[in-house]
Amino acid sequence: MRREPEAIGDDDRTISLPARGERGLMRAINRNLVLTLIKAREPVSRADVARALGLSPATVTEIVKDLVSSRLVIEGAAGPSAGGRPPILLSLRHDAGFVVGVKITERRVVAALTDLDANPRARHDESFAGRSPESVVAAVERSVRALSRAARVPAGRLVGVGVGLAGIIDGLAGVCRYSPFFKWRDVPLRDALADRLDLPIYVDNDVNTLAIAEQWFGAGRGIDHFLTVTTGRGVGLGIVLNGHLYRGANGGAGEFGHTVIDPAGPRCACGKRGCLEALVAEPALLREYHARTGRTETAAGLYERARQRERAATSVLAAAGETFGLALANLVNVLNPSRIILSGEGAAAGEPLLAPLRRALQAHAFADLARAVELVVATAGDDEWARGAASLVLGEVYRPPVYASVGHNGPALFEVAPVAAASRR
Ligand SMILES: [Zn+2]
Repeated sequence: MRREPEAIGDDDRTISLPARGERGLMRAINRNLVLTLIKAREPVSRADVARALGLSPATVTEIVKDLVSSRLVIEGAAGPSAGGRPPILLSLRHDAGFVVGVKITERRVVAALTDLDANPRARHDESFAGRSPESVVAAVERSVRALSRAARVPAGRLVGVGVGLAGIIDGLAGVCRYSPFFKWRDVPLRDALADRLDLPIYVDNDVNTLAIAEQWFGAGRGIDHFLTVTTGRGVGLGIVLNGHLYRGANGGAGEFGHTVIDPAGPRCACGKRGCLEALVAEPALLREYHARTGRTETAAGLYERARQRERAATSVLAAAGETFGLALANLVNVLNPSRIILSGEGAAAGEPLLAPLRRALQAHAFADLARAVELVVATAGDDEWARGAASLVLGEVYRPPVYASVGHNGPALFEVAPVAAASRR
């Protein structure tokens, strides 16, 4: 069944109601439900909003008045009349606020400024030297400032900064528990950035940010159970179950790339042997191609050779596709998703990788589970990663505030004045 992300359905609202009558919180929840519904169905009339949410027309009218006066929602053209006066249709004002998404890679940060609908308005690259948290944090700060200047975002309109990076990230605490690139352990990235930028900062694993972007703005919209699987320099996984991103006990869920396929296999960057990543990610493909042909290739070059049906290139990708498909079958058996969104730079390998992958997925999954899975391919380059990081903030903007009260990141709602303080827990 299709459902908008973060549940505007009755079930979640009933479960989420606070035990004691906190009027302020109830009002914030209703306001957020109205905002999220307008986002999902715009343009939409007040009456349809009230019907869809089971709220009284008077409550909706009051909330919409507030949203219009705070310039989050605009009244547009009149909709079709059901007999009486034609209703005014409501839409979200996408430029009511802006967010910055930052993807941290090994040597540089890639940042994008987006509007409330995750449309990129400006982008910026910033390199840094060394691996210290200080140099990376300083590069992120420079990027955010450069983007706000370039896009001329008025003060107060920048609602937050989302940061995605590889590794084990505790999004709740805002701490990088482990970074494979920088060899960091327990680096309090969020607080370091909040000190410099005085904005709400959200930090998460980079693949999780991509999954959130798919959930709100991409191929995951309205899908309750889906997986975002990335391949490129490594292999990553973002898990959305029951409409919620699953992060695990300390942010480590989704280390699919380090599931062991062959304990006697090649050494992985993590130090272990035969991880999926050590068999199918781009460095593994290039190493294997070199072993077979003696030629050093780039990933793009390898994919092109396979498209030209060069035998060595084709067979390297076919073997990787088969292994990848088998690993995905195991994942499908455990999680029973209805959609897998395959992305990352390595998805550009195309059919020479994907055809064997699909065959192996069908062959190895239990009973009919794989037949119920739709495999969607979406290439992710730097811009998509940065947009994903921006979605980390946008997801919080649209998330019902009750979730914040039960331990999620903290609100980034416009009406909450001390947002910078609220993001620091
Ligand atoms: Zn590994």
